[in-house]
Amino acid sequence: MAAMISAKPMKPVSSMASNGLPFRLSAMLLSGSTVMVWRRLCPVMSIGGGSGSLAERKYAWQIEKRSVNLSETEALAQRYRATFPYAMQLFSQTAQSVVKQVDLAYQAFFRRLKAGEKPGYPRFKGRNHFHSFEFKQFGVGARLDGRRLKLYGVGRVRVRWHRPIEGKIKTVRIVHKAGRWYACLACEVPDRPELPKTGSEIGIDLNLENLLTTSEGERVENPRFYREGQAKLRLVQRTLQRKRKGGKNRAKALLAVQRQHEHVKNQRTDFAHKLSHDLVQNNDFIALEALRITNMVRNRHLSKSILDAGWGIFKQLLTNKAVEAGRQVVFVDPAYTSMCCSNPDCNAVFEDLTLADRWLDCSCGLSLARDHNAAINILRRAKEDRWDASVSVPSSAWANVSPLSPPTEILPDGAR
Ligand SMILES: [Zn+2]
Repeated sequence: MAAMISAKPMKPVSSMASNGLPFRLSAMLLSGSTVMVWRRLCPVMSIGGGSGSLAERKYAWQIEKRSVNLSETEALAQRYRATFPYAMQLFSQTAQSVVKQVDLAYQAFFRRLKAGEKPGYPRFKGRNHFHSFEFKQFGVGARLDGRRLKLYGVGRVRVRWHRPIEGKIKTVRIVHKAGRWYACLACEVPDRPELPKTGSEIGIDLNLENLLTTSEGERVENPRFYREGQAKLRLVQRTLQRKRKGGKNRAKALLAVQRQHEHVKNQRTDFAHKLSHDLVQNNDFIALEALRITNMVRNRHLSKSILDAGWGIFKQLLTNKAVEAGRQVVFVDPAYTSMCCSNPDCNAVFEDLTLADRWLDCSCGLSLARDHNAAINILRRAKEDRWDASVSVPSSAWANVSPLSPPTEILPDGAR
C-alpha cells in the first residue's frame, strides 16, 4: 500500500464575499441604449483608439520589452474619455475595471513567460466577451434609492430583493446572463462565530454510482439534473440548428439554449450548497479524496457523469463553508482506498478486486459495501496525517500525487 499521505493547505479566509445569489434586475431599463453603449465601449477601452491599454502594452512589449503598469494605463483611459465625448457614457470606474482586467491578463502573461511556459499573448476581446461591468465603490455610480438601485447612466432600476443584504455593500457588478440582468453585490460581512463542536468526524468517498458515501455508511444519490435536462437541451439545440444564421429566430433559439444550461447549473449549485451545508453543520472533521477533476473529465466516457455530479462545485463550497465555520477539511491521496480492508487490525489488500465487486468480504470478518469501506479508509488516512507528523509529506509532494486513483476506482459498472 502506498504510504504517501498528504493534505491540501487550507485557503485563507476572506472577509469579502460575494455571498449568495445575485439579485435579478428589471430588464426593461437595462436593455436600453446606455447599457448597450457600455457593452460596446468595454472592448474599445481594452484596446483603445491608439491610446487604450492593450495597444499601448503591446507596443511597449514589442519595442521596449517592458511591461506597462496599471496607473499608466488608467491615466490613458482617462485621457481617452476626455478626448472622445461618447466615452463619457461609460462610468469612469467601470472603465478602470476593464483596464484592470487587461492588466491581470498581462500579469499572467509575464508570469508564464518567467516560468518558462509558452505564454499566449493577451488577445483582443470583442463585445460578446463582456457580460458584466463593475462599480468598484458602492455609493459612487451605483447606490440604493429606496428599494431601487440607481446606476450611472441608467436610472433607477427595480430589483427583486429575494433575501436581505448581509453586511456592508462594497462593490456592485451588473451581469447579463442568458438574456437576464443581475446585480452581484459583494459585501463585507463580519466574521461569523464558529459553530459549536459536534465531536463527529466523517470520511467521504466520491463515486459515480452514488454521488457520495460516508464512513457512516450513509449514501447520497446523484440527482442527475444534467441528464434529465439533456432531453430538453437536445430539443432546443436542434431548434437552434435549423435557424438561419444571423436571423432573429436564431437569436431567440440561442437564448433558449443558454437558459437551459443556466437552469441545470443553478440546480446543481443549489444541491451542492445544501449538501455541503449539512456536512459542515454536523461534522468537525471532514476527509475527502483529492481526485483531480480536470484530469478525470478528459476521459470522455466518464465526463458526463463527473460533471453531472458537480464534484468541483461541491468541494469548493464544502471547503469555503468549513473554513467559515471553523471546521477542518482534509484531502487525502486516493490511491488504494477501496482496495484495503478498513479494519485497523487487519490491513488486508484485495488484490483481485474487479469493477463488478460492489461488496467486500474480508477474511477478518469484515463485510461492507465497497464505497463504505473506502470512506472509512479515507477518514483513517486523514486522521493519520493529522496526528502522526512523521507520515505527513511536505506540500511539494502534493504536486506529485497521482491525479487518478487506480482504474478500479473510477470505472464502476454504471459508468457510461
Ligand atoms: Zn480485513
